[in-house]
Amino acid sequence: MIVKRFEADFFRNYTHLECDFHPGVNVITGDNAQGKTNLLEAVAYLSSASSHRARYDRELIQFGVDSAFLKGEVFSRQRDYTLEANLFRGTRRQLFSNGVRLKTAEELSGLLNTVLFCPEDLYLIKEGAAVRRRFLDDCICQLRPRYAAALAEYKRLHEHKTRILKDSEEKPSLLDALDDFSLRMAQCGAILIHYRAHFIKRLREVAPPIHADCSGGREKLSLRYETVSTVTDPEAQPKELLPQLLEHQEAHRAAEIAVRQCLSGPHKDDIAVEIDGNPAKLFASQGQTRTAALALKMAARDIFYQDTGEWPVLLLDDVLSELDARRQEFVLNRITSGQVFITCCEEEKLALLRRGRVFHIKNGTLV
Ligand code: ATP
Ligand code: MG
Repeated sequence: MIVKRFEADFFRNYTHLECDFHPGVNVITGDNAQGKTNLLEAVAYLSSASSHRARYDRELIQFGVDSAFLKGEVFSRQRDYTLEANLFRGTRRQLFSNGVRLKTAEELSGLLNTVLFCPEDLYLIKEGAAVRRRFLDDCICQLRPRYAAALAEYKRLHEHKTRILKDSEEKPSLLDALDDFSLRMAQCGAILIHYRAHFIKRLREVAPPIHADCSGGREKLSLRYETVSTVTDPEAQPKELLPQLLEHQEAHRAAEIAVRQCLSGPHKDDIAVEIDGNPAKLFASQGQTRTAALALKMAARDIFYQDTGEWPVLLLDDVLSELDARRQEFVLNRITSGQVFITCCEEEKLALLRRGRVFHIKNGTLV
């Protein structure tokens, strides 16, 4: 997938932007607060109709203006597509592919997919399990519709069961429905665990070599799936996982009622990330954290390619800071497949760049 040409009107601090991108590496440079992240955000919006840092579309529209417009000429699946998005302050956004109105944002995926790495992604290594679960879920949902459906159902059941547990203090009869919810959660949960285990198996094959390459072979990344403790082989078929999940639930039934929370199930899953055998969450340095997070994101992109034959566009926001020269060189020159966008403030880093195009951004305009 390649974004060949791009236009933006009244998007964030861009009043009007038109540019032709390189099919390989595009480096976006400029001082702080000139619009580098905004440009990546605009490209990402055309792939998902959402932003990693805006809750509402109206935040993306330029101050004092009522609507914004994005247009990308994209080459994907051996064809050219024109993707457009109209954003409005008052009403819902409109999306178009080759002039035809799209009903849902999901229809964009498959035409343009992006993998974004942003400074917040360092949480992937440093924060609690929820961030890593979200990463897993996002990756697998893009590839497996059955997983997306099971996840949505699991979340619904989890909310409902939590409500039963919470309200049962006042209304004990609610507990009559508890076992039924537990069973359905275990059935959905078994599907989630099966898919997660298979995805992590692939991550374990793909991420460590990327990490070794970036770190010059000096560090070893390892990943391990952590799920419900009674599960002996998470890669097993869901029907084999089900009795093991039920066994765990049964053992925690009284405790769940006592603390009024769901204690059993894959909503507590995690990926243990280790560098040279030490938990990265506790011991990784800033550069190591960045390298590990980057390796996970790039591995997800590789897996997407293996499954679909298309490289998602890679958007790297502020990835170069805190990396030593070797790791910067890796980011700039060793990502040779697919299209990549990299933002950076320091112009002197560009001396390392061996191919691609440089864009200088100043106050929302290309100079
Ligand atoms: P840094 O190097 O600090 O990360 P950046 O170049 O990535 O900087 P951006 O995050 O792209 O900077 O933001 C550029 C400017 O856009 C900021 O000054 C911000 O206030 C402004 N901006 C954000 N949203 C809007 C909006 N809706 N309308 C107009 N300007 C906006
Ligand atoms: Mg920025």
